[in-house]
Amino acid sequence: MTTSPRQAARTRVAEAMAALRTGRMILVLAESDGGCRGDLVMAAERMTAEAAKAMMTIGCGLIHVSMRSAALDALEIPPADPTSTGPGRELFRVSVALAGSEAGGVRASHRAYTIRALADPSSTPSTFTRPGHVFPLGCAAGGVLSVPACPEAAVDLVELAGMAPVGVLCEVCGADGEQAGRAELLDLGREHGLPVVSIDDLVAYRRRELCRVRRRGVARIPLPMGEFRAIGFTDGLDREHVAFVHGDPAANLAPLVRLQFECLAGDVFGSRHCGCRAELDHALDRIARSGCGVLVYIRARSTAVRDTLRACRSDVGRLCAEAHLVGPGDIQSAFDMLDELGLREVRLLSDAVEVAVEPGQVRVIERIPLSHDHRGARTLAPPHTDRIGSLS
Ligand SMILES: [Zn+2]
Repeated sequence: MTTSPRQAARTRVAEAMAALRTGRMILVLAESDGGCRGDLVMAAERMTAEAAKAMMTIGCGLIHVSMRSAALDALEIPPADPTSTGPGRELFRVSVALAGSEAGGVRASHRAYTIRALADPSSTPSTFTRPGHVFPLGCAAGGVLSVPACPEAAVDLVELAGMAPVGVLCEVCGADGEQAGRAELLDLGREHGLPVVSIDDLVAYRRRELCRVRRRGVARIPLPMGEFRAIGFTDGLDREHVAFVHGDPAANLAPLVRLQFECLAGDVFGSRHCGCRAELDHALDRIARSGCGVLVYIRARSTAVRDTLRACRSDVGRLCAEAHLVGPGDIQSAFDMLDELGLREVRLLSDAVEVAVEPGQVRVIERIPLSHDHRGARTLAPPHTDRIGSLS
């Protein structure tokens, strides 16, 4: 059985979490602009003198402790350069050591005490002296989804593994003392038996966790086109969506599927600004006539009414461009619902080719135009950083 790239990435993240839980080190790769950086990572609360020594021996870089900026603020560990206003201001913090003469030294055991204390929820500002031999890094609250970097990855992975969100990291240097390349890093991982995970793996994992859908009830709904089952879902952001299922699509080869995005003015009131109601009816009719299929109805965001009204005030042709903005998370939720319904290959009723859908678990083997004569081609949404346009 072949493993998809997505399953392989999930397996790598799961193996990394399992290793962290048992106090083992992992190797995190950050690839960007053709370069590759590698950091040894472990959970701060599992840090020991032996692990600190191994990290320094294998990694050769400086040992840092990454935790959320707010947690460092609470411990009154300020930015290393308070006059800095640049992007690194939050990252580098004043170095610390555990207060008390026995624990404040540079020895591996002393560093391990300090690192474990940073992960201890009972620690207070007076637990530490400043400066010391442990270097904290302040991380973004949103983790790798905000900043796809090694310090954020360390905190995310340790937290996903069920421990206090404080990670220890040490950049790996190559044999020549310079930054190690990808091949050298992978060799090092194999040599020391370290699970290797990339930041891209972790970003994909966290996105999927956010978008994961769950079933929330089912009802039979007779429509003019035929009988459908409405199956409710919630996504990872607690938004509700519904799949209108006709027949038994999971038992059929490549059933018809339509992704329909909520348009209050069009769907409910039949606004003539756009053709959404006609599209909706037409898609349900096509699915019913084909014998089986699914219309995934993705509910709009909380700003949908405002967006629609604003769009209604502008040019007619721009309505859907402004009111039907769809994010990658919406597309992910739609395909997660199809996956949950047991569909593997689908034929997508869609007029547009502008959305590069990467459904992963559900394959689109054909795009079939949702032919309709009530209106012309839909105006496409303008490019936007977190929205990728209408899918119809
Ligand atoms: Zn509409």
